[in-house]
Amino acid sequence: MPVDTHCPYCALQCGMRVSAGTVAPREFPTNRGGLCQKGWTSAAVLDSPGRLTVPLVRRDGELRPSTWEDALDLVAARLRALRAEHGPDSVAVFGGGGLTNEKAYLLGKFARVALGTSRIDYNGRFCMSSAAAAGIRAFGMDRGLPFPVTDLAGAGAVLLAGANPAETMPPFMQHLTDAELVVVDPRRTPTAEAATLHLRPAPGTDLALALGILHAVVADGHLDKEYLAERTTGFDDAWRVAAAWWPERAERVTGVAAADQRRAAALLAEADGAYVLTARGTEQHARGTDTVSGWINLALALGLPGRPGSGFGCLTGQGNGQGGREHGQKADQLPGYRRIDDPAARKHVAAVWGVDPESLPGPGPSAVELLDSLGSATKALLVFGSNLLVSAPRSAHVASRLAALDLLVVTDVVASETARQADVVLPVAQWAEEDGTLTNLEGRILLRRRAVDPPSGVRTDLDVLHGLAVRLGQPPQRFPTVAEEVFTELRRASAGGPADYSGVTYDRLRAGEALHWPVVSTDDPGTPRAFLDRFAHPDGLARFVPVDHGGPAELPDAEFPLQVTTGRVLAHYQSGAQTRLVEELVAAAPEVFVEVHPDTAARAGLADGDLARVTSRRGSTVARVRAVASMRPDLLFLPFHFPGAGRANLLTNPALDPVSRMPEFKVCAGRLSTVES
Ligand code: SF4
Repeated sequence: MPVDTHCPYCALQCGMRVSAGTVAPREFPTNRGGLCQKGWTSAAVLDSPGRLTVPLVRRDGELRPSTWEDALDLVAARLRALRAEHGPDSVAVFGGGGLTNEKAYLLGKFARVALGTSRIDYNGRFCMSSAAAAGIRAFGMDRGLPFPVTDLAGAGAVLLAGANPAETMPPFMQHLTDAELVVVDPRRTPTAEAATLHLRPAPGTDLALALGILHAVVADGHLDKEYLAERTTGFDDAWRVAAAWWPERAERVTGVAAADQRRAAALLAEADGAYVLTARGTEQHARGTDTVSGWINLALALGLPGRPGSGFGCLTGQGNGQGGREHGQKADQLPGYRRIDDPAARKHVAAVWGVDPESLPGPGPSAVELLDSLGSATKALLVFGSNLLVSAPRSAHVASRLAALDLLVVTDVVASETARQADVVLPVAQWAEEDGTLTNLEGRILLRRRAVDPPSGVRTDLDVLHGLAVRLGQPPQRFPTVAEEVFTELRRASAGGPADYSGVTYDRLRAGEALHWPVVSTDDPGTPRAFLDRFAHPDGLARFVPVDHGGPAELPDAEFPLQVTTGRVLAHYQSGAQTRLVEELVAAAPEVFVEVHPDTAARAGLADGDLARVTSRRGSTVARVRAVASMRPDLLFLPFHFPGAGRANLLTNPALDPVSRMPEFKVCAGRLSTVES
């Protein structure tokens, strides 16, 4: 019996139909019947030989098969002992932006209630945190796209800052076919190939570019003064900074011609409907929050956010990148996208959970800081749906921290690199084998349905949390194992918060209703377009935020004369733990490569196809040279999906954004050499 569901991978959440273990695209607004190569081949992971189907426990240095009862008993006993000896904060939890809403919610509750720890964060910290922080600062609320993606089809111009959807989510591009595209990216990506105007700032200078274009908007008479007066506050402070960034000055810093900055301003201002969209390329910086604020200031100056047919948004990456940050697996948040240090939020959520608000821990350390504490303050780590050894910055350091733990437990679908280093590995069901909801890049809540039986031997993440919670002394009913029951509780916990799901039911989703949060009652049709009347700040106004360019945390020097940036390729998803199991995808992208200008390669004694060493202050990686004439001569690009000696994240800089705690994945200093040198 065919089952309509959604792709297991990215935030576009393309509609697909699963039938007898195969997938086919289906008509859905985000993909309009299209799928990318990852989606088409996603069924291969269901019966992959790489699937985990039995719990594993490390004995005598090796992971050996175990029963579920023995594995859960062992984990619970070790957690109890560590908590008794070192306190509840000696145990930490790490979640993922691919987990369903129900899993993210129950994981946050498990950490705060069953473990009593403040130490929980997730890999969305590496992904969406700067965009989220800037969105909250400007609009009072963070919803990636506060409008349906189909609205983009009517736009006259779209500026994409640090986004490469032609490669990362190709079906998205069909929404942009009629727009003049302005693409901001140091690389000539497939998305840049489709652009009317490609702006190529030096890595780490996006904020200077945003300031230069904002200056051009004002100087060339494109400022929307009426909108500024009616819908915003703080322009004068932001302009005091931008006034010093006339395009010629921005050109000196970014390398983008002043004339092109003015053209970008004019394309956006003169279009019949325009959007400014950001993604990881501009966000994953040690000043990522300010950089996104720079783009938001530009959008506000043009009068775009909250206006029908125009807007500002960010393109979420992971499948549940939006929902994953709303339900309490983030170090500083409770369900409903509430702050954990807000007394009213604590009281509300504690009442839903049936616990004393005073018993709830406060905010914990962010992901990178949490990983730094492994083996010292943190003795045990439980990882759900994240492959830290490949995806976290400075990964050799992360490996050493993981090795220093008393207990590492990994719950996953496949034997990821992190799972292989664990003391206990718990095999769980995946997308098409279980029910659950996700929230896509436009804040639309979707039902992923069970379409096939899971392999015998696996349980669900909800089963794992229930089994551990009960062993830790929690009442069984406090940790339901049926996704719809968890969702019913999540609705109550989210009620009244910014991300209010209280009016969303499985029945409404089964009936195909398009529900974008907030949905405050079962009669509420939801909010496909947020901010049309007012922004979410108490006064209803959007905030300009005065931000200034500061540059990357690490600059090239004589020892490391080049810049290194990282990103994705079409065939792989995130750490590649799933997509590296799919034959067609491996054939399409078999190994890590370093994209480099031919002259830069030649200066290092290298040519296309050679193996090269790329080195930064944190380590080195070996990658196949891909000589690309369009590359900036000062830049190296590596995809981050590959394991072992090819990990791009052996190089990356964990310098943190002061607001979002996002590490600077997108630029560090490096050098290129032959493998021998
Ligand atoms: Fe669609 Fe993203 Fe899946 Fe590709 S990976 S099919 S773009 S949801």
